[in-house]
Amino acid sequence: MTVVESPAVRLTVDGRAITAAPGQLLIAACEQAGVYIPHFCYHPRMRSVGMCRMCLVEVDTGRGPALQPSCMLPVSEGMVVETASDAAARAQDGVLEFLLLNHPLDCPVCDKGGECPLQDQTMAYGPGESRFTEEKRHFAKPIPISDLILLDRERCILCDRCTRFADEVAGEPLIGFQDRGSHTQVNTFPEAPFDSYFSGNTVQICPVGALTARPYRFKARPWDISETISTYPNAMGDRVSVHASRNQILRLQGVDSEAVNHGWLSDRDRFSFEAVHSPNRLREPMLRDESSGEMQAVSWSSALSLAAAAIREAVDAHGASSVAILGGAGLCAEDQYAWVKLVKGIVGTDNVDARMGDGLWADLLCALPRASVADACHPGGAVLLISGDLREEFGTLYLRLRHALLNDDVALVELTPLETSLSSLASVSLRARPGDTALLTEAMLSPQRGESVAGVPTKALAAVASMLKRRPLTVLLGRTSLAESPAAVERAAILLARKFPQARFLPLLRRGGTVGALDVGMAPGLLPGRVTLASASDWYRSAWGAAPEARGLGTEEVLQAAAAGKIKTLVLLGADPVVDFPYSRLASEGLSAVSTLISVDLFNTASVRRADIVLPAAGFGEREGTHVNVEGRATAVTAQVTPPGVARRDWQIAAELARLLGGDLGISSPRDAWEELARLSPLHSGASWEALRTDLDGVLLQAPPPADGEPLRPEALRLADLEPPEAAVVPFDGYSFRLVADRTVYDGGTVVGNCPSLAAKARPGRLRLNVADYERLGVGGDGAVVVTSSAGSLVATAKPDDRVPPAVAALAQNTAGGDPRLLLSPGDAVCEVRIEAASLT
Ligand code: SF4
Repeated sequence: MTVVESPAVRLTVDGRAITAAPGQLLIAACEQAGVYIPHFCYHPRMRSVGMCRMCLVEVDTGRGPALQPSCMLPVSEGMVVETASDAAARAQDGVLEFLLLNHPLDCPVCDKGGECPLQDQTMAYGPGESRFTEEKRHFAKPIPISDLILLDRERCILCDRCTRFADEVAGEPLIGFQDRGSHTQVNTFPEAPFDSYFSGNTVQICPVGALTARPYRFKARPWDISETISTYPNAMGDRVSVHASRNQILRLQGVDSEAVNHGWLSDRDRFSFEAVHSPNRLREPMLRDESSGEMQAVSWSSALSLAAAAIREAVDAHGASSVAILGGAGLCAEDQYAWVKLVKGIVGTDNVDARMGDGLWADLLCALPRASVADACHPGGAVLLISGDLREEFGTLYLRLRHALLNDDVALVELTPLETSLSSLASVSLRARPGDTALLTEAMLSPQRGESVAGVPTKALAAVASMLKRRPLTVLLGRTSLAESPAAVERAAILLARKFPQARFLPLLRRGGTVGALDVGMAPGLLPGRVTLASASDWYRSAWGAAPEARGLGTEEVLQAAAAGKIKTLVLLGADPVVDFPYSRLASEGLSAVSTLISVDLFNTASVRRADIVLPAAGFGEREGTHVNVEGRATAVTAQVTPPGVARRDWQIAAELARLLGGDLGISSPRDAWEELARLSPLHSGASWEALRTDLDGVLLQAPPPADGEPLRPEALRLADLEPPEAAVVPFDGYSFRLVADRTVYDGGTVVGNCPSLAAKARPGRLRLNVADYERLGVGGDGAVVVTSSAGSLVATAKPDDRVPPAVAALAQNTAGGDPRLLLSPGDAVCEVRIEAASLT
């Protein structure tokens, strides 16, 4: 195909010749050429509306100069623009005088004071004084429009940014203009608060102090704040600006990274900085007193010596396989590498797993051709979603994909058990009953006879297959439910990759740095660089001095081995299996049976409370390093505040343990760790420490082809080496319900639980049932039902939900509404449950 590129448009701005892309808005073209045009309503990530008129400039397109709003005018060949002519300056002066007519000028008590575009532009372009002497318009101020956001209508300049964001970007038009003329005001609707997962973005983009966020109000003035660009440790690795004052993080702002988050953040992530300073943070090492059973503060040297002794004794008496490490997904790549080198290179065990039983097959994720977010959003592409609801779990990816579906002719096919927040924009939604994902994928990939397969019409399957053949395919691959064996999704992925060799896969693992952890070998059978023990142990043995002899155990196997008394020392790295592992009983039994449980954590979690040795670690905002997101994109993480008490960075803890065990990690800074990783792992070799700190979009990790004369390096995992796992197809009996254990953004997890502003938004989960099922069960007014599986039972409150298909019951994990983990058994392909109205029992 020949790509015809349109020639650049030539124009003159303030006497200087510049070029711009065809169709580019004049304001953007000027900004790109270094000419700033003042504006309020224009935002490069939203539709232009020309509301404020602040960007008026003089434009001559051959018919004489005229004032035009530069945010509404595409560039044209030969255009002559004057941005600072007398006419333009007079227009800007007039616009500002008009905008200030009703503005309260309460800058000294306004949170925006000092960083306010209205304040700045009034100083730079506005009149020295106002001719308006009448009484200004008054509103009650401020009014809460949600649990998090307050609105001061007197300050609003009606720029339409917040309303456009809510409608266009988030798809939640909960805030809008009301009334007319000089009475026009922005507000929410009665009975409908601004209850959006993304409301904090409106505070960030409001060009005045009309919208403020409760967690930051009156906390600081901009000139007191120090600011650094960092990466939020979520799955997307959203770029953020961390604002701190007096050793306290006070707010996070989204940074506009073209490759990642386009400046947006979810509220959960934006306001999660409160957890950094939670009173629940661990501040000093602790040791369980043998006689009283109470935890007692001890020195680092005592705690580390005892931890090292526990590891050494286990290895000496029972072999290295009696030691295991679980967790680490939340750490920086350098910390992860330090722990991997300690465990695999010095202790000699391969029992390491960053996934907490809710991930996918690590070898598969390393072998699948990796997609970027840009691939998923590429105009004209197709996206196959095999996952939960992106809005609940991957906020900014949801926003990016939503934009692509609406604007860039991206076709979405859903293969999900429940309706999602993107279903209304999907080209096709295939409702895969729990356990049927692989079955439906197979049916999609080969022509089917009959009317339907697993309840899905064969015509729909054929239509999807034909669409996927015509468009470049990106598969968003995650767990559809924790109550379903991952084998169904894993098998589907391999079948898709074989059928569509050009397809790319974006692994949707919810825990922040899981993909990065797998890339550095934080899973059994893997070593840094997406390579296996079998192919790379010699390479790492020569670098580290040792490497595990045999493939180790994953999280579930570790906990089973622990429960059977085979794991003597278990180290948890920011992991809380008591609350987080899908099989709660197994987690409890495993933790109880080990001789020494060492917990390296930030918070006093349920698992920490069962530990024998507790080592306090530094967290987000307190450590420097690199985050690797689901695409495999590495971006810089920066430190802004010091950790509480005597908490230490993870790499320091690993290095000290190595020394006490008679080894030497050779790492004395995160930079050392990254540079060693980049030296040993071709995957990481293209990202220098400096490049990560200068490139806002970071570096997409990719192994370059081997150079001539380079020593033979380990071969990366290949898809051809993997066999699709068998995915048991459980016949649908039409009597029981299939359980979907999904996620909700405000759950009872550690981060939400330690942020007062977010914890207030957590709601008890409800057992969601199809409306017909709900009525058929005769559920009483209080909604109480008993849910029973072969593993156990629980009482929950049911609610009808037409997004749930018939014969399926959905319950979010980790909420106060009932723990679906009580119903799950390890190894089951699906979880079948019986549901009875509680009043009938
Ligand atoms: Fe613009 Fe702020 Fe008013 Fe919204 S509240 S319309 S963002 S000035």
